[in-house]
Amino acid sequence: MSPIKLNNSAVIGSELALSWSDGLESYLNFETLRRACPCAACQGEPDVTGKVFMPNLTYREQSFQYLRHQLLGGYAIQIFWADGHSSGIYSYELLRSLGSPA
Ligand SMILES: [Zn+2]
Repeated sequence: MSPIKLNNSAVIGSELALSWSDGLESYLNFETLRRACPCAACQGEPDVTGKVFMPNLTYREQSFQYLRHQLLGGYAIQIFWADGHSSGIYSYELLRSLGSPA
């Protein structure tokens, strides 16, 4: 089994469209993407007791404005947002799960 690759990406309206090497296409709304940002600042980190402290997040209009992304090592993309946030590393697995039909 060869790993799934990202063939192409395009911005369509307020969505990031991704096409994958297995033929699947994902359409990811910017707001959904930002709220799913997997970085520790957005999703919280477990403390020494294993309890996850959830950060109190405030989003601005720019928080949901996608600027660009860059590919990371063939397994993830890093997304840059208009409010300066860019620490989220979105694995292909995460992107495909976000983009799949409910
Ligand atoms: Zn984040």
